[in-house]
Amino acid sequence: MVSRGLHSIVLILTALAVLPIAPADEVHRFGRKQTNQTEVLAASDVPKPAVYGVRDTLAAAVKTWGSSGRMEYWILGTDHAAAVALAKKFCDRRVARGHMTRKSCEQDSGNKEHGFLMYQKIGADALESGRPRGSAGHNGGAVWGFHRMTSSLPLGFAGVLDIPGEGEQVTILHEYWHSIQHAFIQTADHQERRKQMGPVWFTEGSAVAMAETTAERLWKSGGLKRWNNSPHPWRSLRERMLSRLNIVKSKRKDCETALPDSYDDDCRELAYEGGAWAALLLMHRHGQDVLLKKFHPRVNDLGWRGAFEKTFEQTPQEFVDDFEAFLKLPEEEQLKILP
Ligand SMILES: [Zn+2]
Repeated sequence: MVSRGLHSIVLILTALAVLPIAPADEVHRFGRKQTNQTEVLAASDVPKPAVYGVRDTLAAAVKTWGSSGRMEYWILGTDHAAAVALAKKFCDRRVARGHMTRKSCEQDSGNKEHGFLMYQKIGADALESGRPRGSAGHNGGAVWGFHRMTSSLPLGFAGVLDIPGEGEQVTILHEYWHSIQHAFIQTADHQERRKQMGPVWFTEGSAVAMAETTAERLWKSGGLKRWNNSPHPWRSLRERMLSRLNIVKSKRKDCETALPDSYDDDCRELAYEGGAWAALLLMHRHGQDVLLKKFHPRVNDLGWRGAFEKTFEQTPQEFVDDFEAFLKLPEEEQLKILP
């Protein structure tokens, strides 16, 4: 009975949220407030410094970019039984809140591609093989009014395999930026949300660029602590972005475009690396806070393309052509756009 009652409240909120006349802040899909609404939920075998590392980085992100609304950040460790217990906790919550039936939740959390066991296995394989690997994702949740984030063991926070904690901070800022992108879109329809997020190069590229530039700024200001826990020194923004640029230049020859709209093909790396430089170029021309302050607040009303044209005063294709020309400039000219 309880879950049924909650379910109808969710339905009412959903109906209100899609009313076109409601201002975005009045009925917000993710219930955004001016507070830190992030929750970190970890498997029992995740070391405490890793949990605190995620929590503190999310708090710094909220402080810098504002709240994107309700967020659940689920962290897997490497132990199978602990992962199963965490998946059960996830399902207890979904069932109690009327989001899912027990059966559909257990199938989703246990077996599907973005299920907990996949993330647990990534961490377990990394520790067993000694080859570092990690994965984190913004895995939906909009239909239930929260951001559902999942992560494998953050190796750099756990102090294993010589991975720098700074890399984990950048990853978390990247994922949090995705939640910001989502926060400005009110529809529950999955296809419609994807359309409003824009092409993959834009979604991923801006997440890479915002995470890298913001982390650098926060380390310098003390807004984010440095981990200094790896024998491999953490490289500067300039060095990191230069190696991304070199990836773009070498990969560009084999791909149709420097800015692909796909997660699937061999050129997907360009969506991240090329997209990051494209976002840097947009921010260099229109201001470092143009995405947060101007572009995203327009997406819900104008759609991705409309918001792009209004904010950047050119069509996406005109910008893509500009970006291809930018890639032909001498390296010292290209590096000048870094903040
Ligand atoms: Zn991403």
